[in-house]
Amino acid sequence: MNKTFHSQIMKMYETVRKNEELKLKNRKMEIKKALPQVIDIENEIKKLSVKLSLIAIKPMDNKDAAINSIKNKMIDLKMKKSELLVSNGYPMDYLSIIYKCDKCKDTGYIYTKKCDCYKRYLVRVGYENSDLKHLLDKHSFKNFDINYFSKDFYQGSLSPRANMERIYKSSIIYVEDFKNHDENLLFYGNPGTGKTFLSHCIAKDLIDAGHFVIYRTSDDLISNLKDAKFNNNTGLYESLVDCDLLIIDDLGTEQLSDFSKKELFNLLNTKLLKDKKMIISTNYALDELSSIYSERFTSRLFGNFTLKKFFGDDLRLKVARLKRR
Ligand SMILES: [Zn+2]
Repeated sequence: MNKTFHSQIMKMYETVRKNEELKLKNRKMEIKKALPQVIDIENEIKKLSVKLSLIAIKPMDNKDAAINSIKNKMIDLKMKKSELLVSNGYPMDYLSIIYKCDKCKDTGYIYTKKCDCYKRYLVRVGYENSDLKHLLDKHSFKNFDINYFSKDFYQGSLSPRANMERIYKSSIIYVEDFKNHDENLLFYGNPGTGKTFLSHCIAKDLIDAGHFVIYRTSDDLISNLKDAKFNNNTGLYESLVDCDLLIIDDLGTEQLSDFSKKELFNLLNTKLLKDKKMIISTNYALDELSSIYSERFTSRLFGNFTLKKFFGDDLRLKVARLKRR
């Protein structure tokens, strides 16, 4: 787990708890005015509970009987308190703290194990920290305009629009069926043909559905891998490996070194072994990738990813032209 992510999540739990404690305090003040006898009962219960813990550590005769007697008194008082609250129109647990997660009582942990709710916070924090956040408002399936893609035939029989319609449909299925498949996608083709946009659309829908998605340009990814390796940031590495979907944008634009090639291969391989999904986009053609990367890397890539070829005019130029009009 990323250290800064972790401390952010712990702060979120703290805020949740503080808010709930404040709400409880206000409810108590309300009851103090409306039903002061309930607060008297609460105080009595508190006194008995102190008495109980004192007896438990004190050597004495008939200890069990004394303990039972106090316990029974406490039960009676609690019942009386609930009855008073309910008969006056308040919920029975009006004077209890309300947890967002009953399992971990908003601490994130059950003993030393992370609670399920921790993952939900992780998704949120991961998203808040991602470069995607500001983009995703615009880049969603809803805003995807197929009309930008040319209907003219291009490179053989398929037009860019017909090709995009196919990829678009399969991407929607990819998202809807995300839990049930372990498909990786390789988006490749010339620049400005919608690869990044579409990967953003997929990311947005998956994040909205509560999945843990990490989006990185390949350059940022290499920086992360360096950080993980040389600063011993194992948490960062773990989140890159364990996230539900890692999107690597612009493969081939990172600084190509022995380190980056080796670490990229290791990450890819680890994720494949763990059935953790990836989407990679690149402006390079397949034969160009083969000449840049090692054979073992590209064989993993071509063998374990569904290849989606993007082609057509550079849409960024087209959009800019349209905007100028
Ligand atoms: Zn929990």
